[in-house]
Amino acid sequence: MSSNNLNVEHKLNEKSVKPTAVRNLVLKYLVERGKAFSVSDLEEAFDTIDKSTLFRTLKTFEQNDLVHTIDDGTGKLKYALCTSSCNSSTDHQHFHFTCQKCGETFCLPKTELPSIELPPNFAILESNLVLKGLCNDCNT
Ligand SMILES: [Zn+2]
Ligand SMILES: [Zn+2]
Repeated sequence: MSSNNLNVEHKLNEKSVKPTAVRNLVLKYLVERGKAFSVSDLEEAFDTIDKSTLFRTLKTFEQNDLVHTIDDGTGKLKYALCTSSCNSSTDHQHFHFTCQKCGETFCLPKTELPSIELPPNFAILESNLVLKGLCNDCNT
């Protein structure tokens, strides 16, 4: 077994997800891709795997904090890998950057969020922290 496979199984075990052949494959692809992806990206990459199996795999990853969703305004829900330190939905609150040219979305987990002062009795249930511009590849 390659060290890459061990790494992926470790990541799954860490989030209490039982490693399976499909889960290992999908997670390996996501780690190597390193960018946000949509369900159709996944279907394209694994055209030999049943679509409902892929979708179920993704939902399992989402429920166990392996991936988080991003609504980047493109109309397609994107998913991105979580860092190993994020453990609850509140940890997923970070900025995202969508390139307006190639449409790729990136996580910006290191950028601190501004503290937001709400009027009394207001509660935030959802937020969309998406910055738009040009990525490194497109900004030439
Ligand atoms: Zn770009
Ligand atoms: Zn993210």
